[in-house]
Amino acid sequence: MDWAEATGQARERAFAAGALAPIDTHAETLSDEGLTYVVRIVRSILRKQRAGAGKPVDPFAPPYESDLVVGELPPAHMALLNKFPVLDRHLLAVTRDAEPQTNLLTAADCEALLRLLGGWDGLVFYNGGAAAGASQAHKHLQIIDLPLAPVGPALPVAQALAAGEPDDGIGRSPGLPFPHARVRLPESAWRDPAAGARVVHKTYLDLLQAVGLPPAGSEQPGAYNLLATREWLWLVPRSRQSCEGIEVNALAFAGTLLVADESHLATLKAMGPAACLRAVCT
Ligand code: AMP
Repeated sequence: MDWAEATGQARERAFAAGALAPIDTHAETLSDEGLTYVVRIVRSILRKQRAGAGKPVDPFAPPYESDLVVGELPPAHMALLNKFPVLDRHLLAVTRDAEPQTNLLTAADCEALLRLLGGWDGLVFYNGGAAAGASQAHKHLQIIDLPLAPVGPALPVAQALAAGEPDDGIGRSPGLPFPHARVRLPESAWRDPAAGARVVHKTYLDLLQAVGLPPAGSEQPGAYNLLATREWLWLVPRSRQSCEGIEVNALAFAGTLLVADESHLATLKAMGPAACLRAVCT
């Protein structure tokens, strides 16, 4: 399944039907400690609803809003458009059975992740818990386009990820200014998602261990962000949701941030994005 194409087509239909509430932003780039970050600044006043705010509705439980459905994602997910997109193409893979976002990823989640990458050369991310930037409590993976923005580098952290090999196995990159563990993803994993899922699931548990979050049972041992491209899988331990009022989710660790207004942009410039990212990890 070409998930990128299917998402683009579904987006056009949903937009025409008035089912989307896009968030209008403009972008700036900021350079700091050897990386160039893409920062989007919200123009419209719409804000994401935090889990627990307002009515306790689960938007990812059936019945699904039909305009948002892109398709079934085997073996256990439904692919839905993001109703409040900042980016043109932004797909959510929600578990068909209700499951908490703070549960550890399963082999089925890893298979969904690999199927997405197989049909879309994009960036998959997972916000493991509210402290990692999740606004919804129902388990969901997400995928967006690369390049991340028309301005700046396609994937700002790409070069840094490759620095300071070990070429195989789990390592850390001296080029990334925040705690993390990262590993190369073999092409065979997304070419054969059913088989690759078992390997990637084990690797994911090893990444958690490597950042000091030893997995046990079904619940995550602490908040974290997971990111994946066709080339890399990386995981970042989290201690808090925001720094100086700037909310940080997984995308920040790919090199792109979203700020609510110009005053938050000024704060980010003053402290530097790298310090901001470190502050939410420790
Ligand atoms: P996160 O904030 O990382 O938990 O991601 C959840 C995403 O779901 C956000 O980007 C929201 O914009 C999006 N979202 C919130 N409500 C809905 C909904 N009713 N249908 C589809 N997407 C939604």
